[in-house]
Formats: sequence, structure tokens, C-alpha cells
Amino acid sequence: MADSTYDIVVIGSGPGGYVCAIRAAQLGFRTAVIEKRETLGGTCLNVGCIPSKALLAASEKFDEAKDHLAAFGVKVGEVSLDLPVMQGHKDKVVKANVDGVAFLFKKNKITWIKGSAAFTGPNTLAVTGADGERAVTAKHIVIATGSEVMPLPGIAIDEKRIVSSTGALTLSEVPKRLVVIGGGYIGLEMGTVWQRLGAEVTVVEFLDRVLPGMDGEVSKQMQRILQRQGMKFRLSTRVSSATASDTGVSLTLEPAKGGAAETLEADVVLVAVGRRPYTAGLALDKAGVALDEKSRVQTDGHFATNVPGIYAIGDVIAGPMLAHKAEDEGVVLAEMLAGQTGHIDYDLVPGVVYTWPEAASVGKTEEQLKAAGIAYKAGKFPFTANGRARAMNMTDGFVKILADATTDKVLGAHIIGPEAGTLIAEIVLGMEFGASAEDIGRTCHAHPTLEEAVKEAALAVAGRPIHI
Ligand SMILES: Cc1cc2nc3c(=O)[nH]c(=O)nc-3n(C[C@H](O)[C@H](O)[C@H](O)COP(=O)(O)OP(=O)(O)OC[C@H]3O[C@@H](n4cnc5c(N)ncnc54)[C@H](O)[C@@H]3O)c2cc1C
Repeated sequence: MADSTYDIVVIGSGPGGYVCAIRAAQLGFRTAVIEKRETLGGTCLNVGCIPSKALLAASEKFDEAKDHLAAFGVKVGEVSLDLPVMQGHKDKVVKANVDGVAFLFKKNKITWIKGSAAFTGPNTLAVTGADGERAVTAKHIVIATGSEVMPLPGIAIDEKRIVSSTGALTLSEVPKRLVVIGGGYIGLEMGTVWQRLGAEVTVVEFLDRVLPGMDGEVSKQMQRILQRQGMKFRLSTRVSSATASDTGVSLTLEPAKGGAAETLEADVVLVAVGRRPYTAGLALDKAGVALDEKSRVQTDGHFATNVPGIYAIGDVIAGPMLAHKAEDEGVVLAEMLAGQTGHIDYDLVPGVVYTWPEAASVGKTEEQLKAAGIAYKAGKFPFTANGRARAMNMTDGFVKILADATTDKVLGAHIIGPEAGTLIAEIVLGMEFGASAEDIGRTCHAHPTLEEAVKEAALAVAGRPIHI
């Protein structure tokens, strides 16, 4: 067995792992990343954020050409779909991104050890790759192994008729009827893609709302808009079985609170009920690393596990399962290992849903503030009153800013509308600096921009918006 010793070895090259490795290398650590996938970038770049956004962008163009350009006086004739070309676009985007990480590894002199890592002791790993097994030793080991699709008991994912998000990214034809189990962001995003391309989409959700965890008003509005686009919803409903045949899938639905079962037929079913931390094959017991009650690697709030020298970041630990959260944790951990200080305010990790319109959120929701008994003021501004949104024919949605009733400090913001994912950044930055609603309201915003809706919502907190 060849032997390799490093200052830092990161297991997993997703946004948590690769960013941690780059920052560690910048700080002078001799760094290696162990990745078992054929390409770098983890879930996010290979089968998550990036391919889903490539298909969302492409399907939005199709939808625009088919249904929305005529209103601008743009005639395009008959619009038809070339799905292989669209999938080719997605594949090209993924390749550019994963190759980009490989380039960054070379640039920063990070070693990619190809293979699957398993602990053999507290600071030793065995890596099994195509050319056999090798021992790897490191002063610091970072577990960044991410997450995997959460299965639904009794429903077998075959990635053909019953697919996970991974299979939903590679369908070779548009299903006539697509049933999405789960009304979270992955279900809605992938459902949106296939609906735009012609599928009849039904979302079945156990809870009584879509996008649980987001502000209630945003969830309601999102459901209304998606319904108008043709998506069907079965809320408070449980899928108790799904049986695939050569011709389709037969699902059994039951009311969440119990009651008569019914059958729903589909051509393809997408199981999108969440993700769970991935530690299979790591042999954590050999190092003595503890898991928490949700099978996540347990950390002390500063990424240290119970074993000295072993750390964990990203989807495999507590917190929102989001790429930018994993990235920030990677940077902060590398800096802490270099003796610097670091901190992440988890309240300020934005969440974005890339449907059309987009939804974006940061900080507390109204429901959370009410439950915590915090007195707040809400300022809301609809895109119907924003000149730029009118010019773009994109007037659905609103910006809502929540501020402390006494101090005016911004506590949360929730946006549904065009470019919501971009607009939220201004508010996240403001909140990082402890901004008040008045600070945002008095900041000069270019005209005519969608950002003016943010300014107006901030002014509306004090009851003085100008344009409504
Ligand atoms: C369809 C979809 C869309 C998404 N869209 C978004 C989005 O728009 N925005 C967003 O913020 N998040 C999105 N996410 C979530 C995002 O992908 C994750 O939060 C992010 O990838 C987590 O990063 P990570 O570094 O923790 O782990 P991962 O990206 O999961 O990477 C972990 C890596 O570790 C490797 N690995 C695991 N075990 C071993 C081992 N023993 N040895 C060697 N290698 C190992 C895996 O092969 C994998 O490559 C999406 C996810 C999905 C599925």
C-alpha cells in the first residue's frame, strides 16, 4: 500500500469539501481531497444545483417562446422541443463546472485521491480506488460526504418509472403524467421543468402546504401561481404505495389524517421527500465518530466532532442542506484550522426556490416571530406596482420585510417574484451589517429596477412607501 500524509484531507468534493480544500491550500496546508465520483463537485455540480438550474433555464426559454413572447410583439411561429439538445446543454454546463473544480485543484496544488474513503483509525483512512487500496494519513480530516436521496418506505426507486431527483434530470422523453411526491423546493423545481415541457404535473404533499419552512404567505402565493400555470396539488395527502409496470405507475393516495384510499395513475413518479446525511461506507466506528439523533455527524458548533482532529461540514451535519451553507462552513473551518477565527450566522443563510417566479427567504418568518413572541412590523410591496416588473410582464409576487417593532432592525425578508434569488442578496448583506428597514429604505436604488420593490417594502415597514 502506498502511503500519503497530508496536513488536511477532505472526504468529499462537493461545495463543502472542494471549497474547504481550496481555502486550506491558500492558507498553506498540504491538502488532499478524496472523492469516489468520476468527477469533482459533489451532488451540487453533478446531480443537484447546477444541472437542475440548467434545465430550469432551458425550459424557461421554451415556455417563453411558446407562451410569453407574443405579448411583447415577438412572433416565433411554431415552437417545438428538442429534448436531446436541451439535455446536451445541461451536460455541457455540468462538465464546465466540474472541469472548473479540477482546474482549481491543479491551480492550488490540491491532490485528488480518487476512490472511496473509510476510517481505519482516528487519523488514518483507507482509500479504495480503481488501482487498489492505499493508506492516507492526515493531521486534520474533514468529513464532507454530503447527503443522499431520502427513500420513501415501500416505494422502490428504479430511476426509470419511479425516479429520484437524479433520474428526473435525465428523462429521455417528456412524461405525459408526472406525479411528484413532496412539495419542497426540489419537487417544485423539477416539476416545473417537466410541466413547462408538456407534462401534466401533480404534486402530492403530506403537509397542508408547499414549501414548508418558508414564510406562509410566500408558500400560498407560490401554490396559487403554479396552479395557474397548470400544476395540480394534492395537499394533506400521503402516498402509501407506488407500483411500476411497463406502461406506468399506479399510486395509492390516502388522506394524511386517515380515510378512504384512492388510486392515481402516472407515467413517471418523482420521489422528492428530502435528503438524508450520507455516511455509508465511512466506517466512522473505526475512528469513534459519533452521530446525532438524526444520523448526522455530531459537531460542537465549530465543526469539531467528538474525535480530536476530525471535523465535519455541509449536508452531513446539522443545518440547512444548501450548497452555500456548506461552502461557508468549508471556508470558516479551514481558517479556524489555520488559527484564525470564524463564524457563521445560520439565521442569515438565504434559501432560494428557482421556479418561476422565484421565491427567496432570509431570517425569520412571520410564523417564527409570532411563535417567539417578538413584536415586529411588516412592510410589503407588490411587483404589480414596480415599473420594471411591468415592463418585463412579470408582476406576480411581492417583497416582504419584517423588522423589529422597537428598533426597526430587519429580522427577515421573504420575496416571491422575478429574480427573487438575486434580490434577496441585498437584504442578506444589510442584515449582516445589522441594517434597519430605514437603512434599506433610505439607500438609493437605481430606477427602473426590480430592486426598487425591496426599497419600497423597507419604506412600507414605517408605513410610507411612495409608489403604492
Ligand atoms: C436536485 C437538487 C437540486 C439542488 N439545488 C440546490 C440549489 O439550487 N441551491 C443549493 O444551495 N443547494 C441545492 N441542492 C443541495 C446541494 O446540492 C447540497 O446542499 C450540497 O451539494 C451539499 O454539499 P456537500 O459538500 O455537503 O456534499 P455533496 O455535494 O453531497 O458532496 C459529497 C461528496 O462526497 C462524496 N463521498 C461521499 N462519501 C465518500 C467516501 N466515503 N469517499 C469518497 N467520497 C465520498 C460523494 O461522492 C459526493 O461527491 C440541490 C440538491 C439536489 C439534489
